[in-house]
Amino acid sequence: MAEKYMSMENIKFLLYNVHNLESLFTHDRFKEYNRESIDMMMDAAKDYGDKELLPYLEEMDRQGCVYENGEVTIPPQIAKVFSYFGETGWINATESYDHGGMQLPHMVHHAGGFIYAAANNSAIGYSTLAGGAANLIVSFGSEEQFQKYVKKMWEGKWQGTMALTEPDAGSSLSDITTTAKRQEDGKFKITGQKIFISGGDYKEADNVIHLMLARIEGAPKGARGISLFIVPKRRIDEDGSLQANDVTTAGIFHKMGQRAYVTTHLIMGEKDDCIGHLVGSENLGLKYMFQMMNAARIEVGLTGAAIASAAYYASLEYAQERSQGRLPSSKDPIEPPTSILNHADVRRMLFFQKAIVEGSISLVLECSKLIDLIDVSDEKEKEDYQLLLEILTPIVKTYPSEMGIQSVSTGLQCLGGYGFCVDFPLEQFHRDIRITTLYEGTTGIQSLDLLGRKMMMQDGKAAKLLFGEISKTLNEAKEFEKSKRHAISLFNTLNDFQQVLNRLIGLAVKGQTNEFLADANLFMELSGIIVIGWQWIKQGIAAEKALKSGDGDAKYFESKIKTMDYYFAYELPKSKGLVTRLMDTEIITIKGDNEYLV
Ligand SMILES: Cc1cc2nc3c(=O)[nH]c(=O)nc-3n(C[C@H](O)[C@H](O)[C@H](O)COP(=O)(O)OP(=O)(O)OC[C@H]3O[C@@H](n4cnc5c(N)ncnc54)[C@H](O)[C@@H]3O)c2cc1C
Repeated sequence: MAEKYMSMENIKFLLYNVHNLESLFTHDRFKEYNRESIDMMMDAAKDYGDKELLPYLEEMDRQGCVYENGEVTIPPQIAKVFSYFGETGWINATESYDHGGMQLPHMVHHAGGFIYAAANNSAIGYSTLAGGAANLIVSFGSEEQFQKYVKKMWEGKWQGTMALTEPDAGSSLSDITTTAKRQEDGKFKITGQKIFISGGDYKEADNVIHLMLARIEGAPKGARGISLFIVPKRRIDEDGSLQANDVTTAGIFHKMGQRAYVTTHLIMGEKDDCIGHLVGSENLGLKYMFQMMNAARIEVGLTGAAIASAAYYASLEYAQERSQGRLPSSKDPIEPPTSILNHADVRRMLFFQKAIVEGSISLVLECSKLIDLIDVSDEKEKEDYQLLLEILTPIVKTYPSEMGIQSVSTGLQCLGGYGFCVDFPLEQFHRDIRITTLYEGTTGIQSLDLLGRKMMMQDGKAAKLLFGEISKTLNEAKEFEKSKRHAISLFNTLNDFQQVLNRLIGLAVKGQTNEFLADANLFMELSGIIVIGWQWIKQGIAAEKALKSGDGDAKYFESKIKTMDYYFAYELPKSKGLVTRLMDTEIITIKGDNEYLV
């Protein structure tokens, strides 16, 4: 097991130098915080990661989850971690003081979450889910529901889930068939099944509160007929005792990665005795659920970045220790082999990982800050921040996942044959990260959302706001010697991007919807390259400022500038191929009368 899984220097650089966390402390909501208190929290998170998460990463993977006699057993450390997050107030840390939270900025919560996830990505999903499910009740449920369910979830006693997927409704949630039948007392009887439900059941959880999508009998077809329900595994009697609620775990899924994070198949109402409680108004369920899904999309991006971070440091550590071969300029067999760290190709693989990991974390924190700004702004500003967050959400879910997979695979490659062996953690990271492009909406679905909805909404207002933010950074870069030239390259790519967007919008306007969206995935790839380029210019500027001020570790800031140079020399040029493809009018992939995929 590699010792280093993330860089505290990097997290602090991103929080303070790049994203100016301290500017949030001027707002009433966050006025209790200062740099010292945040540093203490980050250090405590790292300490917990070192002692209670990282040491169990491999063991939990080997133990996995077991389904036997209708019961689910998960690795024992998970329950301890879940309780710890509940007891320390971490699960509801961003909630207001009135609700017993800490009014912690989301930036800090996500920075801490990143540390935890880098140490052990399977262990933290349980508390993230409980927090997200509880927040749905806070936002849309009644006071009674809040009192009944939320506290226990925040305390790390009851698990929460998001129960959406069904055997015939994965990407297309509008096709769900789980049914809710109204009862005279205002409650509902639920029947149906849900698959792939993370954290859906395990022995240690006294109760599991499913936030479930279902269709009330007689509701309209499609998304307009979906409602949100609280469906507890055990219902709560008047005297507070827990009774079985006819939610059966039919089995668990056996997965290639994240093996300690249980994924369940649930059946509701086999005995016609599964009670659900409506949250908010009828038929608004999918709209409500988007709150949890959007938050979870950022969390998935965070997880991708975190696993890629752990893989990067493991491969760097290996490269520092392994000697092999000689440089092309020195083929003398009498000379001792050189460290593989001296080979240009290995250095390329390491720079590639560093550029992706640090660019991705920066984007996660950019989005987290938008959530905080939404919390403290007036109506006009709030709307702009909300639109920016909406357009960035599919990208922050996708770039760290898709590129994180490539990054981890490259990390594995640095180890040669040992990378393929269980003695090193790279093979586990390779398996663990693979899910991130699948759950919470596949890359295909995120790409349709980005191009088909987010780029188009309010006549392209969100896109304009994003271009405006990027342009602000590019203008600022004019004052900085090292960042300036990269800003010019990004400016040119942004112009190409706008041409692509105009061409695609032209198709949409003509009603050629299938053509418009056929290459949405490639459009996403291009958007990701640009947005991460923006994050690298931000980091370059911050590093140049820090070097000029003379405060801090000059070597570290120079490494930031070198990694920015790498990104613009190796990653940004990939946009050219994508632009060529996206400007091309030849369509090969749309199904015609003949079938060529034979
Ligand atoms: C480990 C794990 C944990 C999960 N946890 C949860 C959970 O906690 N709660 C929950 O509700 N669900 C959960 N899921 C379900 C997950 O969100 C779905 O698997 C995912 O949304 C994809 O649905 P699907 O598997 O049915 O794939 P499908 O929808 O069948 O998709 C198959 C392929 O077709 C593509 N595709 C589908 N529709 C379109 C389209 N309209 N246009 C273009 N391409 C399309 C997809 O991009 C994909 O490549 C989990 C899944 C896994 C594997």
